Formats: sequence, structure tokens, C-alpha cells
Amino acid sequence: MTKFINLHTHQFSNDSNVLEVVNQYPWEFDPNIPTYSIGIHPWYIDENRLLSDLDCIEEKLKETSCLALGECGLDKRIEIPLETQIQVFHQQLDLVQNTEKPIILHCVAAYQEIISIKKDRNIQNPMIIHGFSKNEQVAQSLLSNGFYLSFGKYLMRNLDLEKVFTFAPENKILLETDTIEESIFDVYEKAARMKGLPMDEMKNMIFQNFKSIFKP
Ligand SMILES: [Zn+2]
Repeated sequence: MTKFINLHTHQFSNDSNVLEVVNQYPWEFDPNIPTYSIGIHPWYIDENRLLSDLDCIEEKLKETSCLALGECGLDKRIEIPLETQIQVFHQQLDLVQNTEKPIILHCVAAYQEIISIKKDRNIQNPMIIHGFSKNEQVAQSLLSNGFYLSFGKYLMRNLDLEKVFTFAPENKILLETDTIEESIFDVYEKAARMKGLPMDEMKNMIFQNFKSIFKP
């Protein structure tokens, strides 16, 4: 049955109408969450537990309840050196490239770096930029390099994003709540209104995208 998809959230809502990819960190893994992603967010890189975090990710990626790697990626607005972030990103990519699982990306001011890494490593796993908030030009360069875009927080907050959202191809988008207070239903409602689609069609479209990205 078609469900609402929440591509990225930090809270498990236990609503049977929604399939959630709940973000998990290796150092505080909760085995009760039925579907999740797992990864080392660049903000929380800790050299002291890096190897055990990577081991945990490697193990979880083998489980069917683990739907994706992430969130992981690069952030140029934090103090952790970019070289360290890139190294930890590569270590996680080494693990996920042995699987077909998608990668949920956190990217701040490092789009060119992420695009080059995708090209250099010839990554075939679907790559999804979560919380997309940039302009049409950035969207276009990501789309033409095969990335998917997930919208949520900024769709609700930033009026300029409507243009990018309506322009993005229907088979390249996903929806999420991340840490906002609004529900995934609120996000779908806003998205359907922007695309000028009935809710059923919006729901179906995102579900089809989810199915093609997350092969069971
Ligand atoms: Zn998040």
C-alpha cells in the first residue's frame, strides 16, 4: 500500500501511514526503530570512537531495517577541518559502495566537493541531498549529476524555494521533516499545493520515487 514517506527525521512517530527513515547515530543506536539510516554526521566526528562507529555502520548496513547510509557529508561552516570530514566521508562511502543502499547527504557550502567525490568514486548508489535550500542553479548542477533532492524545512520556511521545488523534476524529489515541528502531512500539503497536484498524486509520486531509490 502507498504510504507517506518521510525521507529524513530524527523522531520515530510510529504512525502506520508513514514510512520513516529515522536518522540514527552509531554511538546511540536504538534497536527498536524499524526503519532507519545510519551514519556519522560531520558535526559529530569524534576520532576517539571513529573505528567503532565505522564498524557499527558496516554491520547495520547488512540489515534490511537499515535503509540508507547517512546523514553524512561535508559542512564548510564548522570547525572540524574539511580534510578530516572528507576522510570520514570516504570511509563511510567505502562501506556503502559494497551495497546498493542510498546515501542521505548533509551538505553545507560544499556542493562542488560532493559532486567531484561522486564522479571520482563512480558512485552508483543513489545520493540524496537532504534539506535542500539552495537556488535553481545549484539544484540544476546536482540534478544533472544524478542527485536527488529532499525538501522539508526550507519548503515550509523559505518562500524562494517554491521556484526551485516546482522546477525540480517529479522523479527526483523526496520530502522530509528533519527536526521541524510540522508533521510530514503538513510538508506534503504544502508540496502538493506548490506543484498544483491533488494530495493523492503527490503521495503516489513520492512513493514511486522512494521505491525506485530504495530497492528492497
Ligand atoms: Zn537531520
